[in-house]
Amino acid sequence: MFATDFEYLKATSVAQAIQLLGTNPEARLLAGGHSLIPLMKLRQVRAPAVIDIGGIDELRGISINNGTIHIGALTTHREIETSPEIAQACHIMTEVAGSIGDPQVRNRGTIGGNVVHADPASDWPTVLTALRAEMVVQGRRGARNVPAAEFFTGLLETSIASTEILTGIEVPRLNQNQLAEYAKMAHPATHFAVVGGAVVVTVEGGRCTAASVVVGGLVPMPLRARSVETALVGQELTMENITAAAEKISIDLGSNVFGDSVFASADFRRMVVGVEVKHALFHAVGLAHHDDGDGHDDHGHDHDDHGHDHDDHGHDHDDHGHDHGDHGHNH
Ligand SMILES: Cc1cc2nc3c(=O)[nH]c(=O)nc-3n(C[C@H](O)[C@H](O)[C@H](O)COP(=O)(O)OP(=O)(O)OC[C@H]3O[C@@H](n4cnc5c(N)ncnc54)[C@H](O)[C@@H]3O)c2cc1C
Repeated sequence: MFATDFEYLKATSVAQAIQLLGTNPEARLLAGGHSLIPLMKLRQVRAPAVIDIGGIDELRGISINNGTIHIGALTTHREIETSPEIAQACHIMTEVAGSIGDPQVRNRGTIGGNVVHADPASDWPTVLTALRAEMVVQGRRGARNVPAAEFFTGLLETSIASTEILTGIEVPRLNQNQLAEYAKMAHPATHFAVVGGAVVVTVEGGRCTAASVVVGGLVPMPLRARSVETALVGQELTMENITAAAEKISIDLGSNVFGDSVFASADFRRMVVGVEVKHALFHAVGLAHHDDGDGHDDHGHDHDDHGHDHDDHGHDHDDHGHDHGDHGHNH
């Protein structure tokens, strides 16, 4: 199917994009086009005008200042995946970027388009909420920072106004006491998260002193798992304590767990989400590691069990729902 007729406009600066949004009500911004174009072709979006922001250089790039990582909205997943600065300051983002889609999606898709589209199966909303990131949004009246926890407001919905543009994302760099991981059950075709869990834990004196646990994929918008966080704080992060804490996720889930798809029922997702949270925590604290055959343990950096070609969720060796201790091995 073809999209309905639309006017193509091109902005060369943020100021011009904001001006064009003001004079073209219902126009849509075009970044990588990986979500907008399919929606237009399916006629789920009928935009009278499309404003191409792809050539605005000021929206690109990664910089770090005073402990804050700034990522321009147009920065692609691939640029994040390959950034040495990101690898050093927030390695979880390196891994997440590398787990998205396929090479074409990673080369074209942008982090800004990803978060504004707010697909519950996307990885960045979950991970950025766990990292306490802020979205930098600009409109005619100036710029404002919106915490990720307030940015995502519902299924495919955010708090950004139709006259505003996301210019970037600010992420606090991880400090030395913080461990962060993301684990997802990836859809085998698209690698979108059927269920995903992101964790950031602070460990001081052998105990967890702060925890940020967020799940996504199975609910309309990122969900903070407060019961899991509470169960972790004050504890030593042992296998037993993590397992007990991860089980608390059932308290945090409401009645809005997705279940109407052919590949995952609500019951299945409810079961798997605790496993993903546990999996992420095990990896974060080093209770699981990877041996990818190159002779060294690459836990926490270049490992590859979060959505590339791994498949420990659907084959014969059921890695979910059982505590048989094979997390992180042989997949
Ligand atoms: C086959 C396939 C597999 C995928 N797999 C994954 C996956 O595993 N994990 C995952 O997280 N994602 C996945 N994605 C999503 C992909 O990573 C893109 O991030 C996503 O499609 C949107 O980014 P985009 O740059 O293409 O945005 P676009 O499609 O251009 O825009 C999306 C929406 O955001 C708006 N928008 C874009 N930029 C801005 C801005 N700066 N300010 C305000 N509004 C803006 C647009 O108007 C539009 O409404 C997949 C996509 C495809 C097609």
